[in-house]
Amino acid sequence: MVKEISLGIGIAVVIFLAFQGINLVPTLVLIGVGYFLFNLFKKQGLGSSNNFNTHQKSNKEAADVTFEDIGGQETAKNEILEALEFVRDIDDVKSLGIRPLKGIMLSGPPGTGKTLMAKAVARHIDSAFISTSGSEFVEMYAGVGAKRVRELFEKAKDLARKEDKTNAVIFIDEIEILGGKRGQNSSHLEYDQTLNQLLVELDGMSIDDEINILVIGATNRIDILDKAILRPGRFDRIVKVDLPDKEGRHNILEIHTQNKPLAEDVDLEQIAKETFRFSGAQLESLANEAAIMAMRDDSKEIRSEHFKEAIDKVMMGEKLNRRPQEEELKRVAYHETGHALVAEFVKPGSVSTINITSRGKALGYVRHNPEDDHYLQTLDYIRGQIAVCIAGAITEEKILGNRSTGATNDFKKATELAKKIIFGGMSELGVVSKEHLTSDKIHKEINKIITAEEKRVNKWIDSNQEVILEVGEILLEEESIRGEEFRKKLKIESEIA
Ligand code: ADP
Repeated sequence: MVKEISLGIGIAVVIFLAFQGINLVPTLVLIGVGYFLFNLFKKQGLGSSNNFNTHQKSNKEAADVTFEDIGGQETAKNEILEALEFVRDIDDVKSLGIRPLKGIMLSGPPGTGKTLMAKAVARHIDSAFISTSGSEFVEMYAGVGAKRVRELFEKAKDLARKEDKTNAVIFIDEIEILGGKRGQNSSHLEYDQTLNQLLVELDGMSIDDEINILVIGATNRIDILDKAILRPGRFDRIVKVDLPDKEGRHNILEIHTQNKPLAEDVDLEQIAKETFRFSGAQLESLANEAAIMAMRDDSKEIRSEHFKEAIDKVMMGEKLNRRPQEEELKRVAYHETGHALVAEFVKPGSVSTINITSRGKALGYVRHNPEDDHYLQTLDYIRGQIAVCIAGAITEEKILGNRSTGATNDFKKATELAKKIIFGGMSELGVVSKEHLTSDKIHKEINKIITAEEKRVNKWIDSNQEVILEVGEILLEEESIRGEEFRKKLKIESEIA
């Protein structure tokens, strides 16, 4: 509004002066150039410091997060709590001349609770909290990133003063973007200056500062961080925040269902078992989705079936209304039955359901019964997985006479698994190093491994074609079939013997 009024007055003055016969051209040109330069600097962040401040969040909600709100992650929590003793017992640390804790690096996949942990730290040591992300520092213009780092530290101190606190926590997510190895980026000068500035800030922090700052970095790529950043006196505590194990998942589910009415038949332990490799964020989303399913069902409580549906949704994506053509659906039905059949041969009792409902990118899927968490895979297990992967395409070929692009992802998975065998030293090549194998040799060995599995799969599918046709029909009618029903139609025990 003010802008418009000033513009109006400006134009009026210009017209008035022009009528008086005063030449305004030089003045106008000067004003124009000045305005242009001012805007340019403002864009680059050199003219105003407000620009960057809008990106950072001094989260009020940070004050609400405690370590009890973080499920699983016991080791990480203990390590952090131990490190925080140094911040709390500042007087002892001072008198003993211990180097103060300046930075903690949280390393792990997304959604595992790193942000939550930083917030809980802020609360634990009663400090101001400010959060930002590495990507906020990336600019084309030299010097801007470094300036933003300086501003960030200043802002943290200001915030602490305002909140009457003596500590401030700065959380930098995706720190690898600004702390990657120096000299590697195309516009590396800018990145290097930014990282250098961060190091300068860290090195400049002293125990006698009026406000003590603790910097918490989070990254999924600790391997690409510049070594200088992890040197003692900087981020010298590295805490791994991994995907939760079964107990951790149970714990996280308990946290996120606290405020939700669960029916008698909901067994959180069982759900934890079924959600191997889910992150904390996915479990939170699972609990939320289950509640939404219950609401859609007009149910006052969340039942086990709602959780089952929610697991499928979180794993595979939203159910789609799109229904493929009959011909295509038939192909999907045979393809999925092929996967399920071989899964039963490889591990009897492993199929939970076969579905031909479109979800996310998948036209159909087989859900497997949960296994206990395992972190090692044997040769037999991987070979079995390869067999399951290729079974879909082979079934299509045997029953419909040709394959389709529906198996592209399966083959990708199968080759990845074959590579695991090769580089795990479990193939005929023996123990090998990646660098010494030509891609041709790797290709041949992958082929050999997959061909061996094809033989097994061919045999199983040949001797069960009738079952596949029958189950295919059921799927076309019902969209899904339960594992128990499927197993009744197979006579696996006798065939395996
Ligand atoms: P990250 O920073 O590791 O990417 P976040 O801390 O941002 O992950 O987690 C996102 C959300 O996922 C959280 O707000 C929380 O709801 C949920 N979450 C993730 N990990 C946990 C956990 N360990 N315990 C409870 N909730 C979690």
